[in-house]
Amino acid sequence: MRTVYVNGDYLPETEARVSIFDRGFLMADGVYEVTSVLGGKLIDFEGHAKRLQRSLGELDMPSPVDPGELLEIHRELVTRNDLEDGMIYLQITRGAPEDRDFAFPDPATTPATIVLFTQSKPGLADSPAAKKGIKVISIEDIRWGRRDIKTVQLLYPSMGKMMAKKAGADDAWMVEDGMVTEGTSNNAYIVKGNRIITRALSNDILHGITRAAVLRFAREAQMEVEERSFSIDEAKQADEAFITSASTFVMPVVEIDGVALGDGVPGRVSQRLREIYIDESRKAAV
Ligand code: PMP
Repeated sequence: MRTVYVNGDYLPETEARVSIFDRGFLMADGVYEVTSVLGGKLIDFEGHAKRLQRSLGELDMPSPVDPGELLEIHRELVTRNDLEDGMIYLQITRGAPEDRDFAFPDPATTPATIVLFTQSKPGLADSPAAKKGIKVISIEDIRWGRRDIKTVQLLYPSMGKMMAKKAGADDAWMVEDGMVTEGTSNNAYIVKGNRIITRALSNDILHGITRAAVLRFAREAQMEVEERSFSIDEAKQADEAFITSASTFVMPVVEIDGVALGDGVPGRVSQRLREIYIDESRKAAV
């Protein structure tokens, strides 16, 4: 049985409790982070911790922990759960006031709720999907306008994954005003020759921690990076495509809306970036 963390306590998962009045439960009034663990060490921890502070700040939500404590809690959960490869999920909500009310509660009387738990994924870095590549479909992006904040409001991304599944694909890329924003739970890229193209940062997409690292490694490896929007039609004609996220690293995309890219197998640039990202992240892991 897993040991999880709830509001200062390490507990068996079956004993952990959150109130039914919690605003995360009632209103999706909460933020989250997912940090990967490889070889018992945290990948890109600092980036996730910084983005968490930013998400909290943008929503005027008090932080129940300081960043130093956060690292200790992550490490403690890795140790207590003997976690080798997998993820740590963290969620902070605006707490549980005495009643349901749209107005934010006073943080002095309603402390934030913090929950962390581990998910074990043995062999996370050698996923069979990465060798085959994944298929995506395109769907309309109907999410709200602050996608740069990592909120737990994940209903539409879940529906998008179900639409993909129904269509025989693995995931969906969302399109707004004719241009791809991002994947349901990842950032989206196309490759033309040696050039990597991905949408520029704005409130329209989540500022992926993996995205930042991958673009840095790509530039260091003398690959060209172009941060601009692209359409599904342009993507279908690309040489390669891929996605990035904390839990999939760099994952090649081999088909978009039924159209195979290049030879229909993971491309050279995507595979190389995956290798570099995993190698470098393992070296820098804490
Ligand atoms: N975009 C969305 C919508 C996401 O949900 C995620 C992952 N949570 C990402 C991008 C990738 O972000 P990261 O690399 O920080 O996991």
